[in-house]
Amino acid sequence: MLPTEIPQLNDYSASSVEAFFTQLKTTFDTEAQSANTAEKVEALRVKWIGRKQGLLNHISGLLKKAPAETRRDVGMQFNTFKKYVDLVCDIDARKKLWDADLAEIGIVIERPKVRSIDITLPGSVRAPGIPHPLLKTMNEIVAVFHNLGYSTALGPQVESDFYNFEALNFPPNHPARDTQDTLVLADQQAKPSRDRLLMRTHTSPVQVRSMIAQAPPIRIVVPGKVHRNDAADATHSPVFHQVEGLCVDTDITFSDLKGTLDHAMKALFGSSVKTRFFPSFFPFTEPSADVQISCIFCAGKGCRKCKQSGWIELLGCGMVDPAVFASVTEARRKLDPADDAYNPAKITGFAFGMGVERIAMIQHGISEIGHFFSGDMRFLEQFA
Ligand SMILES: [Zn+2]
Repeated sequence: MLPTEIPQLNDYSASSVEAFFTQLKTTFDTEAQSANTAEKVEALRVKWIGRKQGLLNHISGLLKKAPAETRRDVGMQFNTFKKYVDLVCDIDARKKLWDADLAEIGIVIERPKVRSIDITLPGSVRAPGIPHPLLKTMNEIVAVFHNLGYSTALGPQVESDFYNFEALNFPPNHPARDTQDTLVLADQQAKPSRDRLLMRTHTSPVQVRSMIAQAPPIRIVVPGKVHRNDAADATHSPVFHQVEGLCVDTDITFSDLKGTLDHAMKALFGSSVKTRFFPSFFPFTEPSADVQISCIFCAGKGCRKCKQSGWIELLGCGMVDPAVFASVTEARRKLDPADDAYNPAKITGFAFGMGVERIAMIQHGISEIGHFFSGDMRFLEQFA
């Protein structure tokens, strides 16, 4: 006795076989419609194509009795039907196939629901990652200089005394070193002073590294992390970030420096921002200047943020000191004794540097530098 799902097959004529499969498919489709969970689909699969008692086994046995001249045709119809049942019962395949794909192999199905969706449930929200606010500000500053034709240069955070101080015209024991409270690596006493390692206190060593590696013209912008042994307070952190710039070429003058920084500040803070320069001192630039911008909160009228002065101090800059070019030349002559690329009689340059935290704090009205490093999502999410 055949299972009741299998229709009567009177003979193996083409019309009988076709009617047989049409009826079989109707029966199967009806069952497939109600297989609306993964478990029910699995039960359907076992019932129809299970290895031992699957209905298709019975059908295959039945069709084997077909006379030789019709066997090929009957076999093809059987295979098409089997393929169809395979597909409908294969949850993974069903997920991958579209109705169009199925139609291509001659199958049109009313797709059974594999799982039902409760549309009243709240969706699962995946928060997209965003750049850290400091990184965002740093990228903005770097982009301004990229647009002026500068390229990015990077350097190590563990630096030698030579690159961090000596080559930048901070001689050993010079009091200017005291302005940058330095974290030094332990057990360095056996080395000559210039080879001792420390955590870089500014991004300026990358100026020296870049000039040693490359002859003028140079236009680089140097973003990076720096370290000083500063006690943490509202505006100081032992780890902070700088963006530094260096331009060396023939006939670079102080007005190039002023024009470049004035443009950069307008690009960062808006075209109505004014800049002004005050004499200052840095060992590696001569003359040196501090740059102030007109207060972006009160447009120069005077407010609490600018301490009623109308101006905010933002960066340091100056013309590269010939002593720095001398250090670079000394290092380059170890490779080529005739090197004269950084002869101060032929070339000049300017350099500038700014604190990324300070600029980001001004941009976003942040009063505590510690927020940047706390990892507090309530703070960070405001920048999403
Ligand atoms: Zn102000």
